Amino acid sequence: MFIKVCSSIVCLAFLAAACPAQQAPAAAAVSVIRAGKFIDVQAGRVLTNQLIVVRGGKIEAVGPSLKVPEGAQTIDLSAMTVLPGLVDCHTHLADLGSAEPLDVLKTTAAESAYEAIPNARVTLLAGFTTVRDVGVYRAFNDVAMRDAIAKGIFIGPRMYVAGAYITISEGAGAMTGLAPDIQLPWDLQYGVANSPWEVRQKIRELAHRGADHIKVLSTGAVLTHGSNPKSIEFTPEELRAAVEEANNFGLRVAAHAHAAEGIKNAIRAGVASVEHATLIDDEGIALAKQHGTYLDMDIYDEECIQSNTNTPADFLRHDAELGEAQRRNFAKAVRAGVKMTFGTDAGVCPHGINARQFAFMVKYGMTPMQAIQSATVNAADLIGHSELFGSIAAGKSADIIAVAGDPLADIRVLEHVAFVMKEGVIYKREP
Ligand SMILES: [Zn+2]
Repeated sequence: MFIKVCSSIVCLAFLAAACPAQQAPAAAAVSVIRAGKFIDVQAGRVLTNQLIVVRGGKIEAVGPSLKVPEGAQTIDLSAMTVLPGLVDCHTHLADLGSAEPLDVLKTTAAESAYEAIPNARVTLLAGFTTVRDVGVYRAFNDVAMRDAIAKGIFIGPRMYVAGAYITISEGAGAMTGLAPDIQLPWDLQYGVANSPWEVRQKIRELAHRGADHIKVLSTGAVLTHGSNPKSIEFTPEELRAAVEEANNFGLRVAAHAHAAEGIKNAIRAGVASVEHATLIDDEGIALAKQHGTYLDMDIYDEECIQSNTNTPADFLRHDAELGEAQRRNFAKAVRAGVKMTFGTDAGVCPHGINARQFAFMVKYGMTPMQAIQSATVNAADLIGHSELFGSIAAGKSADIIAVAGDPLADIRVLEHVAFVMKEGVIYKREP
């Protein structure tokens, strides 16, 4: 019954919502999108009157005067601006999203898994067709979520996941703030490691158990009890071991780092991206350029940390002054030409408002085109799947969104995505 209703190309979000289990609908055999404006993110230009042929979930051809295949359904977006599905490189979809990390102790593993399902749904409907999820307190909730979405059990973005946080004991990715005689279950302390060999052991296990990348915590954190964002956690040799071991399995490393030395330790160790990069200094910026390291700076979520009345008092103290410093350093890094991706730390802010960060990226020095590229071509490059997504081009997955308006004139139109297609399936279509 459900399959029948949803097998049409016009199975929209409200239909998907009405379908049992909110399973993903199927794609039409072949369709043609008429794009009024088309953002070519690879060339950094805007084209008009482009046709996009979509077949079997893939983009078959793009151009101004293509032959429309027989029997193709037409999707008329000639009054809209069409661009690739967006990518958030720093999310936490599989967590509870509570301001207090210890709340995870009040729920079973099954409860936290079910409660996370809407996170995936609202993220997709906001136009984010792919995310790089960078850690979860309950190890492997993210692996299960990625696989459930891929199987069509519920709807969400394509996910790349970390499996767990690799962190020192009582470190930035650990469950802290408990009495010393509390024994945590295995999945809430899975990634704790305290030497290069322990780091390697965890990475070997994560690689075997489904991680797509490795998340390490190089410095203290804002949103961890008893932590100091300015402290150094993993040593350079532990970070080097992480990168070498991850690379042995073809995995890249994302390093959480606020403190300047911790950022530089991570870059020198060869990580693919530095998350937050809050207190990066001039030497760190030069190193990032030299090594080709991406900075993935969450410059919007300060608004949520400060305005959420449930934010624990110690987190607010950690955060003092850091938000503004991070934005200043973001502007410096943009000016210096460091490679940047779009990452929001979604979960700190509510899921589904990821696109609010674009306006801050523009306010702090990016052009609108650079901000869009950070969430498309650059993000795909960081994740290592430019062949699959990140731009609208023949052979890639049909991950396509549209907005009513011109995001290059007003980047905030990306906060209201009207059309979402992922792998050729339409999940949202508003007039
Ligand atoms: Zn995070």
